Amino acid sequence: MGLFGPAWKSGNVDKAIRAVEKMTDESELLTVALEATTQARFAALKRIQDSSLLLRAASQSSDRSIYEAALARVTDIEALKAFCAVEGDSHKGLCADSCLSKLLVEKADPALYQADLKRIALKSAFLPGKAAQKLTARSDLIEVAIKAKYDAARAAIDKLSGDPAALCEIVFKSEKTRALQALESLRDQDQLEKIALGCPESACRKAAVERLNKEAAVARVALEDSSAEVRLAAAGCIASPSMLARIAAEDPDRYVRCAAIDRIEDQSLLNKIATTDGDALAACHAAQRLTDQAAFDNALRRNPGIVKNSEALLGRAKDPQALYAVAMDDQLFPRSRILAVKAMEDYELLRKLIKECRKHDVVEAARERKEVLEKQRGLCPKCGRALSPDELSHCRCGACGAEAHDFRFSEENVVSATERDSYWSRDIYRVCRRCGKREFVTKYEGWGTDVD
Ligand SMILES: [Zn+2]
Ligand SMILES: [Zn+2]
Repeated sequence: MGLFGPAWKSGNVDKAIRAVEKMTDESELLTVALEATTQARFAALKRIQDSSLLLRAASQSSDRSIYEAALARVTDIEALKAFCAVEGDSHKGLCADSCLSKLLVEKADPALYQADLKRIALKSAFLPGKAAQKLTARSDLIEVAIKAKYDAARAAIDKLSGDPAALCEIVFKSEKTRALQALESLRDQDQLEKIALGCPESACRKAAVERLNKEAAVARVALEDSSAEVRLAAAGCIASPSMLARIAAEDPDRYVRCAAIDRIEDQSLLNKIATTDGDALAACHAAQRLTDQAAFDNALRRNPGIVKNSEALLGRAKDPQALYAVAMDDQLFPRSRILAVKAMEDYELLRKLIKECRKHDVVEAARERKEVLEKQRGLCPKCGRALSPDELSHCRCGACGAEAHDFRFSEENVVSATERDSYWSRDIYRVCRRCGKREFVTKYEGWGTDVD
């Protein structure tokens, strides 16, 4: 100590620090830590080992960098706990709490501090996940898995991954996201069965039944679960033909029934569903699985509504009566009916359709189709008789006298838009390929760009 006070008070920082580094009395070092104005304060703190002195420095200093540095060096767990209790939620208290977590998680013997580690896992913002990893009691891990925030819960679930009964308990008692997390690693069939049959959360029952190999339990879920989504998942896992038949017949939800139908192989059962099921979607699914052409045509004839959900089915139709039934069905969209007309090859049925159908668009399509067939087959458009080569070359039927031209369309008197005048027009004629007869059909005209 010189004339001007102790060396640690020197304005020369290097000199002050050198002085501190020679000091050994910890209570003197505490004085330096609290009273020095330079970096010497931190040098002093670094030389104090006694936790009670470090905590005194922390409680007496309002300088954040000092109390943080002091608390970080405390090693006495019980003293630090008492400090936390006094400081509560102040910044200093939270800082002490983080130091306490670090001490407990990283330094302490976990066997001695299970209760503290559990508190950290459940409530602390500092290292809860690492604290959960150090828990050993099954009941503590289960509680943390159910109640803690994400990190700690995840760690607890991971630690319990080899304990199916514990995972099952977590699934039953947690909210949905947590429960599904616990389910992820569960493979035990008994526990999966328990969840699939009894968990209040439908998303968990669904996830469980998808992994369940016990046919009887899966069947029970498929038949009895209150959620259609769960029954659907179960139906997708069932292989037993009799069970699939029961679901296809009984389930109140059409999508569940369709899921069962999609797995049925029995052709006579599929035939029955396709021809008699009142639900068009179920009948459609059944028809899609019919491999026999005659059975398929029979289903289409008796239940034309099956094309409502899949027009592609029309491409499979071979039976004229079936196509006729589709074209005549007023419950179907005109689009489907016209597709059926375009596939028709039976000339007499087309004539019958034109006479009996009340839907204008469909009749028009039938007329067009009829003309195509007449041209292809050389038939009289009025009486339908096959014309002889001589009659054909004269474009007239010898039996009924009707004209039988082979018309093509032709554009004549075309006026195109010019730069000066944007008016355009086109006359459309039809011209017989054989005799050259011309008939005016329509005129298109307008101003602006001519749209082809
Ligand atoms: Zn004729
Ligand atoms: Zn002609």
